[in-house]
Amino acid sequence: MGVGTDVHPFASHDRPLWVAGLEWPGEGPGLAGHSDGDVAAHAICDALLSACSLGDLGKVFGTSDPRWSGASGVTLLRETARLVDEAGWLIGNVAVQVIGNRPKIGKRRDEAAKTLSEALSGAPVSVSATTTDGLGLTGRGEGLAALANALVYPKPVN
Ligand code: MG
Repeated sequence: MGVGTDVHPFASHDRPLWVAGLEWPGEGPGLAGHSDGDVAAHAICDALLSACSLGDLGKVFGTSDPRWSGASGVTLLRETARLVDEAGWLIGNVAVQVIGNRPKIGKRRDEAAKTLSEALSGAPVSVSATTTDGLGLTGRGEGLAALANALVYPKPVN
């Protein structure tokens, strides 16, 4: 079992918004960050790395490594799934919750879950969302947060 959290501020300049592996046109400026700022994808990567004791995003995809500069959330998920496999684990399922005012995840929930699942070689992913009733950085619309849990199990030895 692993846990992951991520937070990114909304960019002050025009930038595409990427959340949960999808672009959200018309939902305002995107998230600032070294990558596309996809908090849901990043939280899932951290949860999977956590579950397998492989460290965290900072260790695996360090900002000093030019290979990951500007990498999409889906790219990072694919690489994380490869590392999980290489370390001898299978992914059971993943749950991610997006916390913030926008975008409204519910209207594209199934599409997001399918996109994230495909990046993890078909492992089941559930996507949920909540607001914080106007409180905190997400409530003030300063940024977006995500929490994820991932269940993994050892590959059977034959
Ligand atoms: Mg991040």
